[in-house]
Amino acid sequence: MKFDAIFLDRDGTISHDPYGYINNVKDYNFFDFTFEALDLLHKYSDNFFIVTNQSGLSSGKIDINNLEDIHNYIFDEFKKRKLPLKNIYFADNYDEDYFSMRKPGIGMFKKASEEFNINLENCLMIGDSIVDVQVGNRLKMKTIFLLTGMGNDYFNDVKLSCDVDLVSNNLLEAAKDIKLILQ
Ligand SMILES: [Mg+2]
Repeated sequence: MKFDAIFLDRDGTISHDPYGYINNVKDYNFFDFTFEALDLLHKYSDNFFIVTNQSGLSSGKIDINNLEDIHNYIFDEFKKRKLPLKNIYFADNYDEDYFSMRKPGIGMFKKASEEFNINLENCLMIGDSIVDVQVGNRLKMKTIFLLTGMGNDYFNDVKLSCDVDLVSNNLLEAAKDIKLILQ
């Protein structure tokens, strides 16, 4: 069984989230286990997307050129390892309606669906924030919630208010346990 795509949140999911806003590629650090995890996840999809709310852009805490540097670095690191990262989508404002770019708005996912002909109902969303699970639920995707990043802070709310398929300590554990949600 393969997913049309695996959608990954960025900060707290594939990389450290030290203080919310990362405005320099030097401060951007993948977790040690990220690429081992992505190698395993690649068996379950040929399309990876990163979907990241970067509200620091509109508040001036993040410069668009620095964000592009970080995303070019991410593309390079995926490419080196032959991992099929198809695109990185980011939300640059605080709009929070259903169709907005900012998660739990579905805008970034709609864009990916249109640009790459992806059936969103056959996708997996992985993230460390409640909005990651909420948007996955809205789109009837499978969802994995991680306890890295902000995960511990959101855990109770996710348990109470969301429909989550799997909770994992980190991305590597999720990749190893993915079989549990495929039945
Ligand atoms: Mg996050």
